[in-house]
Amino acid sequence: MRSFEQLLNAPPSPLQALKEPLFRDRKIQVLLKRDDLLVLPREVPSSPFCGNKWRKLKYNLLEADQNGHHSLLTFGGAYSNHLAAVAAAGKLFDFKTIGIVRGEATLPLNPTLHFAQACGMQLQYVDRQRYRQKMEPAVQQEFQAQFGSYYMLPEGGTNPNALRGAAEIAEELKQQLEDTRPDYLLVCCGTGGTMAGLLQGWKHPARLLGISVLKGNFLTKAISSLLPQTVIPEWQVLNSFHHGGYAKFTPELIQFINRFWDRYQIYLDPIYTGKLLFAVYQLAAQAFFEPGTSVVVIHSGGLQGIAGFNQRFGPLLKAVPPAAVW
Ligand SMILES: *Cc1c(COP(=O)(O)O)cnc(C)c1O
Repeated sequence: MRSFEQLLNAPPSPLQALKEPLFRDRKIQVLLKRDDLLVLPREVPSSPFCGNKWRKLKYNLLEADQNGHHSLLTFGGAYSNHLAAVAAAGKLFDFKTIGIVRGEATLPLNPTLHFAQACGMQLQYVDRQRYRQKMEPAVQQEFQAQFGSYYMLPEGGTNPNALRGAAEIAEELKQQLEDTRPDYLLVCCGTGGTMAGLLQGWKHPARLLGISVLKGNFLTKAISSLLPQTVIPEWQVLNSFHHGGYAKFTPELIQFINRFWDRYQIYLDPIYTGKLLFAVYQLAAQAFFEPGTSVVVIHSGGLQGIAGFNQRFGPLLKAVPPAAVW
C-alpha cells in the first residue's frame, strides 16, 4: 500500500537565522531555509529523500502512482544524490526502482550505490557513450524491453512536476516571512530545476541568485528554457563559485564547511550546499548585499554525498552523517 500522507502533509521546513559578526557588520540579515530537515522517513535524518530531491520528486511520485506505475527508472553518476533519493522513494512508496548508472561497476559499492541497492534499486551500468544516448527513443525502447513499463525520471529529476514541487519552497517562505519580503533569495544550481521552480513560485519582486556548482555559463539559458515568459523576480546565475568544477573542491571550501559545522552543527556537502554558503559569505564580505537587506538561502540537502566524498578524498570533512538505514 502506498501512502503519500507524509509527503502531502509535511510541515514547512524551518527558517533559521545565521548570526555572524560578518553579517552584523554588513547590516544584513541572513536566513537559512532548512530543507535539509525536510526528510522521509522522519526518524532517519540522513535519508537521501530530503531537500530539493524531496521537493522535486513529490509530484512525480504522485503522478506515477495515479498513472498506475509500479516502477521508476532514472539515471545518474555513481555518487548521485538523485539516484539515492529515487531509491529511497521506491522503498518508501513501494515502487520498484531501476538506476541506470554512468560508467563501470566498481566493488565494493560506494556509499551512494550501496544505499541504493540496499533500498532495492536495480543498478544497471552503461558506458559513457550509451549514457549520453539514454534519452533517445531507440535506447528507451531497449530499456522497456528489458525492464517492462516504467515512469521515467530524467537525470537530476528536472521536469515540470519537479518545478511545481520546488515552487512550494516559495509558498512556504511567503507564509513564514509574512509581510517581510526578502531582498535576495539564493539557491545552488545543478540542472537549475530547483531555481526555475523557485522563480515560478516567487511572485514578488526579489533578486534570485543561483550559485552554479559547475564550470561554464550555460545555466542561464537552461533555466530560461524551463520558464514560462512571465516571471516577476529579477534573477541571475553566478558562475564563479564552482571551485574548479562539478565535484571539484578547494582547501578553502573544505575549511569553510568544517568551520560552518563547528559553529552551527549544520551539515553542508562539498558538491552543492557548501559552495552555496561559501558564496553567501564571500558576497557578504565583498559588500554585494546592500546594508539593510535580508537574504534567504535555501539549504537543499545533499547530505548523502558527504560519506562518499571522504571515502574518495580522505577524511577531509569532519562531520559525516550516519549511513541511512531503515
Ligand atoms: C541535486 C541537488 C541540487 C541541484 O538541483 P537542480 O534542481 O538540479 O539545480 C542542489 N542541491 C542539492 C543538495 C542537490 O542534491
